[in-house]
Amino acid sequence: MEYEGQICRPPMEKSSYMLPVAVGCSYNRCTFCTLFKHLNYRQLPIEQVEAELQRVKQAGGNPKTIFLGDGNAFGLKTDHLLHILEMVHNYFPDCQMVNMDATVTNIHQKSDAELRQLYEAGVRRLYLGIESGLDDVLLFMKKDHNLEQAYREIQRMQQAGMVFNAHMMTGIAGKGRGIENAEKTAEFFNRTHPERVINFSLFLHKRAPLYREVEAGRFVPASEVENLQEDRRLIELLEVPGLVYDGFHDFLELRVKGTLPQDKEKMLAKIDQKLLECEGQQETFAIVA
Ligand code: SF4
Repeated sequence: MEYEGQICRPPMEKSSYMLPVAVGCSYNRCTFCTLFKHLNYRQLPIEQVEAELQRVKQAGGNPKTIFLGDGNAFGLKTDHLLHILEMVHNYFPDCQMVNMDATVTNIHQKSDAELRQLYEAGVRRLYLGIESGLDDVLLFMKKDHNLEQAYREIQRMQQAGMVFNAHMMTGIAGKGRGIENAEKTAEFFNRTHPERVINFSLFLHKRAPLYREVEAGRFVPASEVENLQEDRRLIELLEVPGLVYDGFHDFLELRVKGTLPQDKEKMLAKIDQKLLECEGQQETFAIVA
């Protein structure tokens, strides 16, 4: 199968077999996101999905974990997802779990019984773009949820048996608000207990609607050092036993990865070392053309 657009999946899913079931993101409105802006969202025909499963089977594939793409596969209608899951298990009886990206609204649109059905059909991990623990930031970034909705829907998916994993971005609250955002985001995670948190740290793309907000003076980006200070405060405050944390600060060539609480001190020391190296240097901003 030819993949359309960018192949995008969480780093923890890098060894999963990625099965495209849709192209793009059905929401596609988050202000900072450029991943799928150039694509018209569409569900792939079931025949195309089956042809891909056949191809991999014939090539000798026997995946244990499958990741459904693209941007929010959990938004597909429950019957359609169940059909795909049935095919997955027919072709690959050894498959142990099926994971995918989801939005808070995708969960809201499914009943408790549907969530349970999907769990029983093999859906295990959902990756949610939580991004921030501040409601005004979620609103500004046009996320499809506020905190109250996120708390409610995460609890529902967890009650159905699924595991909550989070994407977030240091820097998303803008200049001068990193510590405030870290504290509220830590509070959110300490209450919702994700298994994995992936911090991509804000990359400001000139093609993103957010860049227009910068040009209009309505959003002032934080420096990479402020983003790293935010990450430090967040890790310091996280109290979720067994949480796997993976933070990317590509412009500073730093990746902060570990399992809490045992790796916390090591992770903080790594950040402190980088902050020390940055002292006295010119400020950098994660802006890409
Ligand atoms: S829901 Fe995710 S993929 Fe869709 S626009 Fe928002 S950040 Fe991008």
